[in-house]
Amino acid sequence: MALILKWRWRFVVSDHMLWVRVTKSLYGAQEGFNQVRKSKAGDSPWERVIAAVNKLDLKGVLSKNTLRRQVGDGRSISFWLDTWVGDQSLASRFPRLAALERDIHCKVADRWSLEGWRWQWVRDINGGISYAHLAELMAILRNVSCVDKRDGWVWDIANDGSFSVAGTRYWIDERVLLVSNLETRWCVIAPRKVNIFIWRMLWKRLPTRVLLKAKGIDIPSVLCPVCGGEEERFNHLFFTCEVAEKVWCLVFRWLHLDWIDVREPRDMFQWVDGLRLPANKKMLVEVIICATFWYIWRLRNDIVHEARLIHKDSVFDSIRECSFTWASTRQKKVLVHWNNWLQIPMVE
Ligand SMILES: [Zn+2]
Repeated sequence: MALILKWRWRFVVSDHMLWVRVTKSLYGAQEGFNQVRKSKAGDSPWERVIAAVNKLDLKGVLSKNTLRRQVGDGRSISFWLDTWVGDQSLASRFPRLAALERDIHCKVADRWSLEGWRWQWVRDINGGISYAHLAELMAILRNVSCVDKRDGWVWDIANDGSFSVAGTRYWIDERVLLVSNLETRWCVIAPRKVNIFIWRMLWKRLPTRVLLKAKGIDIPSVLCPVCGGEEERFNHLFFTCEVAEKVWCLVFRWLHLDWIDVREPRDMFQWVDGLRLPANKKMLVEVIICATFWYIWRLRNDIVHEARLIHKDSVFDSIRECSFTWASTRQKKVLVHWNNWLQIPMVE
């Protein structure tokens, strides 16, 4: 989810880029967020972004307006139509005033001056409800002033106002957790112990050295036991460590799929969920992904306990063998023969 939201952030902060200009030409300057979509989510990458944003907003996990305009010189922010003060556009907050505006598309800079706001009404506002609304609007705008820099964007839930995947994921997790109470995923063809391992990994409940140290447990080193080069954090151990990197590379080549740039176990499973494959093939990919995490962790434990049951170079072979065993013993009908499995596990 957080990865998808990153596209929204990139959309607004990189308006010079081609894909942004193309998207704008397809969906309009409002990026499609204001449209009610009849079609199902996921028709195009951008529609998936919109669907994700809308879903989080609807469920009350993350407001659409987490992403908001920040006034600089006011030249690119629509005074009435953009959300830039409060949590809705001024046109929807003050429809009467908007109806009296001469140019509904005017920018903030068109209305602001050092001397005060320069209104352009179609007729004078002397009293009545409109006058009261205007007074309210003036109060809201009291602290606004344009400055000599480009208008920007703020990611409201971040301390520094700028988007981060980690911070956003944390925010979403915190809120989703409250609702779903440790909802878990279960791969039916992987053994129970592997499912439990996956669950613990997804919830960061594996005893990595960095985690043990953080809990105040006295350990001689926080370095990765596999390579010894970096601290043993989840993203290092499972993705960026040299052994993990090599294993994923082999696994993806075997699956005939392009490597996806993920650094978090959760993102890997989210990617699996989004694959456009028939359910039985998706399950094979899932079980192979589970086996890969499982063997990276087992290799690590072997090294920690000096057991030497698995060698670095045999991790990939073990993944292929054991995922085959799981897939062929726990499924009612055998999908693939061993020789085909070695070629491509998702064979027709
Ligand atoms: Zn390492």
